[in-house]
Amino acid sequence: PADPNSMFKEGFLKAVHAERPAERVFTRFPPEPNGYLHIGHSKAIAINFGFARYHGGDCYLRFDDTNPEAEEEKYFVAIREMIEWLGFKPYKVTYSSDNFDKLYELAEELIRRDRAYVCHCSDTEVKQQRGGENHGPRYACVHRSRPTEESLQEFRAMRDGKYKPREAFLRMKQNLEDGNPQMWDLSAYRVLNASHHRTGDKWCIYPTYDFTHCLCDSFENISHSLCTTEFQLSRVSYEWLCDELDVYKPMQREYGRLNVTGTVLSKRKIAKLVNEHYVRGWDDPRLYTLVALRRRGVPPGAILSFINELGVSTALTNIQLARFEQSVRRYLETTVPRLMVVLDPIPVVIENLPDGYVEEVEVPFSPKDPSMGGHVVPFTKVVYVDRSDFREIDSKDYFRLAPGKSVGLLKVPYPIKATTFSKDPTTGLVTEVRAVYEKPEEGATFKKPKTYIQWVGSSEKHHSPVKVEARMFYSLFRSENPDATEGGFINDINPDSEQIFPNAMVETGLDDVRKRAPWPQEEGEKNIANKDAGYETVRFQGLRIAYFCLDKDSTSDKLVLNRIVGLKEDAAK
Ligand code: ATP
Ligand code: MG
Ligand code: MG
Repeated sequence: PADPNSMFKEGFLKAVHAERPAERVFTRFPPEPNGYLHIGHSKAIAINFGFARYHGGDCYLRFDDTNPEAEEEKYFVAIREMIEWLGFKPYKVTYSSDNFDKLYELAEELIRRDRAYVCHCSDTEVKQQRGGENHGPRYACVHRSRPTEESLQEFRAMRDGKYKPREAFLRMKQNLEDGNPQMWDLSAYRVLNASHHRTGDKWCIYPTYDFTHCLCDSFENISHSLCTTEFQLSRVSYEWLCDELDVYKPMQREYGRLNVTGTVLSKRKIAKLVNEHYVRGWDDPRLYTLVALRRRGVPPGAILSFINELGVSTALTNIQLARFEQSVRRYLETTVPRLMVVLDPIPVVIENLPDGYVEEVEVPFSPKDPSMGGHVVPFTKVVYVDRSDFREIDSKDYFRLAPGKSVGLLKVPYPIKATTFSKDPTTGLVTEVRAVYEKPEEGATFKKPKTYIQWVGSSEKHHSPVKVEARMFYSLFRSENPDATEGGFINDINPDSEQIFPNAMVETGLDDVRKRAPWPQEEGEKNIANKDAGYETVRFQGLRIAYFCLDKDSTSDKLVLNRIVGLKEDAAK
């Protein structure tokens, strides 16, 4: 895993700090509470919270709640939880709406300073004044030059409900000569007949992003206001407003967004997938919302490690999902225990072992890291192997189990050799394999098998096998650019994105892993463990198959596993 601080030690973020080595660093993460966070947001979280932490400062979680129509309580809760899950603690949780009174006062002040006016133009007129579609000349409207006192009265009339939406709005009086559209008399306040989840019906006017964001940054003494490059042009209006009002001016700097290809992240599109039942919900393990990554079993540390590997610059980063998965795989490789899982079990009866035979075999949780310890699995007369590891007809280039062929069972001293098998006449599926244990005579040698396969023994005393449902998840879309698909992203859905094995088995070590979980110990998961007891953070590598976690659908009667990522990159979609 990458050094979680490397992104602050070099490049863009190092330069940003050097530009203003504030005595006390304050940053903020300012989500709009109108949806679930996705993988792209984890970059913003890692940057803002990480930057503050690295420099011994603090980061606010500020809900940018100035669009009451789109906001919902559940998003406030989910956003806080995901930040904690990633291992960060907000210095304070604040709301733009906490500042509605102050913002209103400053708006009046801006009018008094003749830097704002109430305008009654329509959207179309405003567009025309800004040069229109053909970038024609820009010009002032009649309201721009109205007396300050009149604007002040009109603004109060807006506040007092005398105007319907769009009949009046407050505009900043900036500089129409400027080449930057962010200086073309932006809107500062608009009339909205919406009730706000915090301020109720107190207000019928709400401040815009352009008016609110810089001032809230200023109130909170933000030293470095880090945002994505779409806001590059906004830096000028950000600074203009702070200057015109003579308030403390934070430093805004812009980094490149993180885009991942091969999935969709927009709220509207995910909502469609959820509402039309293509997925289980916003936390379906095939999605790239943070709740989904969490459910899928991706450790928060792996996400942060991924962000660090990418580094931070002003360039937009387009990343394939395979690259993310590679990062997760690398993280899990050294941090989770290994267990044997049989997805589609067939019983193998070892004829030359006595009935009730149990040999306890010691298995380490990691082949490389003895500190992870180990556990015991029972080798018994009946063992289960995966259907895909048996063939009815042997061939020269095949090295697993087949009649007349020997194969090793992982960690069992000697190989087994299949003798015969039986089949279900209706389904044609193999129902049982019979085999012999090839334990050599005292002192004799034996031929080491070419391949070792995973297996699960059957011993009630050892609680083996542990029966589970295994859900194997693959990419939800077939292409790298689902949106470019003819007829829309829905037509790009991969019909095989989920494969369920209802009768899978795990060796008894799963019990040990559950007792010792979480594995790895993640700071963030400790933070929220109590809040969401439904989550049991159990992850492991299923030898020769994939990384797995326990899904939240697990109950005391039925355990469900999710495939987190494969052991190797998935074959082409
Ligand atoms: P989306 O349209 O994807 O919901 P947003 O900008 O509307 O994104 P906000 O709730 O405003 O979402 O996001 C909070 C913060 O996260 C903002 O500072 C935003 O710039 C940042 N952010 C959002 N998406 C990304 C991304 N893909 N990469 C990096 N930062 C992001
Ligand atoms: Mg936004
Ligand atoms: Mg958003």
